[in-house]
Amino acid sequence: MAKLSVVVPAYNEGESLREFHARLAAVFDKLDMQCEVLYVDDGSRDDTYAVMSSLREADARVATLKLARNFGKELALTAGLDAADSDAVVVIDADLQDPPELIPKFIGLWREGYDVVYGTRSTRAGETPLKKFTSAAFYRVMERLSATPVPRDTGDFRLMSRRALEALKRLRERQRFMKGLFTWIGYKQKSIVYERDARFAGESKFNYWRLWNFALEGITSFSTAPLKLATYVGLGTAALAFVYAVWVFGKALLLGDAVQGYPTLMLVILFLGGVQLMALGMIGEYLGRMYIETKQRPLYLIDELAPASQSESASVGDARRHSAPESVN
Ligand code: UDP
Ligand code: MG
Repeated sequence: MAKLSVVVPAYNEGESLREFHARLAAVFDKLDMQCEVLYVDDGSRDDTYAVMSSLREADARVATLKLARNFGKELALTAGLDAADSDAVVVIDADLQDPPELIPKFIGLWREGYDVVYGTRSTRAGETPLKKFTSAAFYRVMERLSATPVPRDTGDFRLMSRRALEALKRLRERQRFMKGLFTWIGYKQKSIVYERDARFAGESKFNYWRLWNFALEGITSFSTAPLKLATYVGLGTAALAFVYAVWVFGKALLLGDAVQGYPTLMLVILFLGGVQLMALGMIGEYLGRMYIETKQRPLYLIDELAPASQSESASVGDARRHSAPESVN
């Protein structure tokens, strides 16, 4: 029988997990596949891991993985996907914003031959107009800048076939913009439109500062256009400066030169200073990422991995169980 793994990254989701698992288990019960869910605790500071462990006690289909600290959603997801070895894997948030009831639809399309089936949100309940606006702006910028356009209004909620999963596992960059990586692999992809609910409990972990950095991550990971921008802005200002120089010198030669022009001088110095700093900053963004990449640190560290008891004997996870500390890169 084909096997389905569901990977759920969770950070301080103690309040939502039980409800989430109840809904997911109901979906599992109706599927004619061997189902398994892997809860990844991303260094939560509440009772998330305790809840996960008790779910695992109660349900043989539950596996848990605890990371050594909070690594961020992208890496928690990566850790979960690395541990998955099934025919199809679904990625879903623990806060019930993405309805688990959609999974059978994903599977239907996967059986039709699609490698990646992803959810596209038609509505975003419980999100502020500012968040909707900034998010729309981000997708637009990405579309213009990057050769790997990220589908709009698409989160991480998706299903991947075995080969898509294997392809994804080969992308070991440290700066992980998952939405981009998911698209980068290609294969047959298909979108399903759904309505995104509001959070079941707790608050979004992504404030605007985090979202801004997330957007920077996306742009720098998938486009070098900002680096080129510096070149063109430089070329443009140089050309303008040349024209202006001809005019200034011409005027000085023909009409003589009384000392004047302090405002223009200041303006030019400040403008060029600003442009130069901005260009340096952009180079810095890329350089900083290269620096982190060259250190070749493991992407994440595992504190504890407990496989689902239904596959205790067969699972790859078995040998690694409770073997801390462990690293994967
Ligand atoms: N998450 C995580 N590590 C983090 C932040 C978030 O594993 O450092 C998980 C979180 O528990 C949730 C999912 O990522 O399951 C999405 O997070 P959130 O709901 O805060 O993001 P939003 O839906 O607002 O984009
Ligand atoms: Mg959420």
